[in-house]
Amino acid sequence: MSQPGPPPDEGKPLPASAPGLSPTPAPVTRVLRCGTLFDGTGAPPVRQATVVVADGRIVAVGPSSSTPAPPGVATIDLGECFVMPGLVDAHSHISIVPGHGNQIGQLRQPPVLQALRATANLQRDLAAGTTTMRVMAEEHFLDADVREAIEAGIVVGPCLLCATRGITASNGHGRAISSFDGVDEIRRGVRENFQRGADHVKLFATGGVSSVSTNLQASVYSRDEIRAAVEEAHRVGKYAAAHAHGGLGLRLAVEEGVSTIEHGALASEDDVALMIDRKTWLVCTFAILFHPTGIEQGDRSRPAIMAKVRQARQVVETQFPRTLASGVRFAVGTDSMHGLMAFELETLVRFGVTPRDALLAGSRWGAEACRVAGDVGTVEPGKRADLIAVDGDPLADIAAMRRVRWVMKDGVVYTGLLPEGHGDGRTGGLGRSGA
Ligand SMILES: [Zn+2]
Repeated sequence: MSQPGPPPDEGKPLPASAPGLSPTPAPVTRVLRCGTLFDGTGAPPVRQATVVVADGRIVAVGPSSSTPAPPGVATIDLGECFVMPGLVDAHSHISIVPGHGNQIGQLRQPPVLQALRATANLQRDLAAGTTTMRVMAEEHFLDADVREAIEAGIVVGPCLLCATRGITASNGHGRAISSFDGVDEIRRGVRENFQRGADHVKLFATGGVSSVSTNLQASVYSRDEIRAAVEEAHRVGKYAAAHAHGGLGLRLAVEEGVSTIEHGALASEDDVALMIDRKTWLVCTFAILFHPTGIEQGDRSRPAIMAKVRQARQVVETQFPRTLASGVRFAVGTDSMHGLMAFELETLVRFGVTPRDALLAGSRWGAEACRVAGDVGTVEPGKRADLIAVDGDPLADIAAMRRVRWVMKDGVVYTGLLPEGHGDGRTGGLGRSGA
């Protein structure tokens, strides 16, 4: 299929300030002509649809025949494309590249090195269609600072929802530099995170696959410690998310009121039933476990980790088709597999989810899990103008999600500048094409 028609200003030199230090200019009104529009509301896709965008927000959506374009407004021709809401990656980390190995070691590196890596990672995520990303723990409050840099137009990236430091025990998974033991330290840690701009709490309830000495089902924290983290979040109108694979740690986290369970690789049918009962979201993270450039590449020389990878893969392969059909609410996250949201959605389909529901999991359901559904996740008037255009029909072949050709975030178009050999089937570098 041909590339979508270029936005009217493509090809012109970028303004001197882009991608400079000035905040994103207020985008002008634009009209998008879409070949097919999947709006994420659950409505059937619409052929030949029009979306009108003004000042970074969607102002009108509908069939082109009945949605008039304001006169004199620039039109973006996406007539060959499948247009849908920008993707919501419900679980990632900005600084980590799993394929480099030793993820905890990466979190211990000097912050400048991490920030530079994050810049490249986030560019790749945005190019692949992620316009909102929930960050699930960084050291040095890196995510809060990078979010500020994105909002100021210094670097490009998705809109970030930040956990800042993960709340983990001294002997817990995810412990790089910070750790919090006991109810009082947890309360202080959570409060400090919120003071530095955290949107939610990320709690590590069980061990993880990519650490050597942790157990995937043990509960590192006591019930009181988990409760303290959840309480501190709720008290200021926020919520807690728990890294949990299964066992006692997962159950305590759900019972104490965390809103999302991250990974859930070993969740039993009873665990899933409890989550359904408590309306807890399951955030699936498949790429890091299954993709050849995930933990398998990064930690192949560490037998203790590779044993966990094999165990988790086997259980997920058997269990997840049932879990995903159980009625539990689910979303997906790449868990630092930057640019690979398509792999997450393809894996959902491989486990029996319909392509339609996979697209919803990557958009509206992600927004709901991350509590930003009032603002993003669907193409509706009033929502932020976060949209992507895909080459092909992902409802017929979900692998089309690998071909994100055009990205708009907050009404600003980001066009691909493909460094040769860098794209890996995905869009590589990005330039901002201005308003
Ligand atoms: Zn993670």
